[in-house]
Amino acid sequence: MAPKKIIIAIDGPAGAGKSTTAKRVADILDYLFLDTGAMYRAVTLAAYRRNLSIEDAEAMALLAGESVIDLRMQDGEQRVFLNHLDVTKEIRTPEVTQRIAPVAANAQVRKVLVRKQQQMGKDGGIVAEGRDIGTVVFPHAELKIFMLASLEARADRRVKDLMQVGIQADIEQVMEDIRRRDESDAGRKHGALLQAPDAILIDTSLLTLEEQVQRIVALAYERGA
Ligand code: C5P
Repeated sequence: MAPKKIIIAIDGPAGAGKSTTAKRVADILDYLFLDTGAMYRAVTLAAYRRNLSIEDAEAMALLAGESVIDLRMQDGEQRVFLNHLDVTKEIRTPEVTQRIAPVAANAQVRKVLVRKQQQMGKDGGIVAEGRDIGTVVFPHAELKIFMLASLEARADRRVKDLMQVGIQADIEQVMEDIRRRDESDAGRKHGALLQAPDAILIDTSLLTLEEQVQRIVALAYERGA
């Protein structure tokens, strides 16, 4: 039987290893990689640059609707474009990360971004990662993964990720940021971080990247990919 182009949804808290894993899985299966967090980050950056109040729900929803956000793979790396300008590095700065919670909690912003994400995945053949992929964005995804890891392991990874884009970060500060984001991700009314009942739990604290990737790829093949 010819392989199907399935949807793989990966959810979990900040720093659980979702991005790196999803990117590798997409690479192996020759699927699209969709980093939905980058979209919330891009909208937050757009507001910051325009000096717009992120608490203004209406203005933020308009901004989300008119922002052109492109996620492209170039030389094996994801690049994020906001209104055709490369903002890959800027969206990872603490200035953006610290302002993201009200943007991610804005129901109208979520509606706009969820629609864009569903559009990108409409033909399948996609690995999407975020917080609400298996519950809201693609509730019918053929494969749902929920990735977890200890706070220490996650902070350690985040520091290394930031170093890769040239940002020096303090581990204590990163741990505090993650703790705060866990709280707001879990506590918001719309698009809260939730494990879908049919998601498979993977604790990545003690797994290597390659082990996580192989586990997910094997599950994808089982589901017809
Ligand atoms: O995954 P990443 O840490 O880059 O996501 C940035 C922020 O965007 C998260 O803290 C989360 O609040 C928000 N987010 C979201 N829904 C998603 C993906 C990310 O609310 N699907």
